[in-house]
Amino acid sequence: MSTLTVPWKLLSWRHEVPVRNRRWRAILDAALMAPAYARIRPNLEWARHLSPYRVAAGFVDPLPLPDLFANPALYRNPRAAAPKPAPFAAPWPGAVQGALALCPWFPVDADAGITHDPQWDAVQRTEPEVLAGPASALLSLASAMLERKLALPTLRWGVVGWSGPGRPMLDAASRAALWWAFQVPVAEQYRGFDGEILAENCEARDGWHIQEDTALWEAANGALPGPLRVTSLVNLRFPALRLECGIHGRLSTVRCECGRDTPRLLTS
Ligand SMILES: [Zn+2]
Repeated sequence: MSTLTVPWKLLSWRHEVPVRNRRWRAILDAALMAPAYARIRPNLEWARHLSPYRVAAGFVDPLPLPDLFANPALYRNPRAAAPKPAPFAAPWPGAVQGALALCPWFPVDADAGITHDPQWDAVQRTEPEVLAGPASALLSLASAMLERKLALPTLRWGVVGWSGPGRPMLDAASRAALWWAFQVPVAEQYRGFDGEILAENCEARDGWHIQEDTALWEAANGALPGPLRVTSLVNLRFPALRLECGIHGRLSTVRCECGRDTPRLLTS
């Protein structure tokens, strides 16, 4: 085991939260079942007895996303149950009805409608008030709508782009296209393999608010931009530890303009 004692860069200034520590132990227990981590079993058992924010980062090497995708079976916990449906969780408190999930890669809770057909005809039939889906599906729908001058008049809350490890975030041009097509606010959530929300784009557009009970985020270069790593605390099926998810950025604890004081990822 490495003797490095670089602390997790995240949240060491915050008090420990029992639910997070319990989830931390559960995710390490899940990792112990995955073949990839068999050779570092003692490290994981050691880390299990510490708070996640006091653990030396050297207990396990960061996992580059291509390594996970090259051999996912190595990182799978064969004893994990099937994933539970993830909440639709629209960022607008009033948006509790008329939710439509477009082409989700994970099971979505029963309150939301689901379609795997990103065509306007299929979507408008459901009369959605709020629409969410991977950026690729939303953009495909948006470009068809712009081309054919179509509208979704029932949409009133907004659209939510879902990105995640291996799934692109919306860039400025994509956001503009979504706004022109749908004419409602555009939000974005960064979700894990089973749909768990790991971070949410800030309404004030100043970075991503971390979901502290769900994810441990770590910045490789601290206050300077660099690779960001994430450990989902709830995905017991794929306990990928310190996943280098392909995002570059840094962590900020400066209070956000929107009033939330949770740490943010500032991407670059
Ligand atoms: Zn904010």
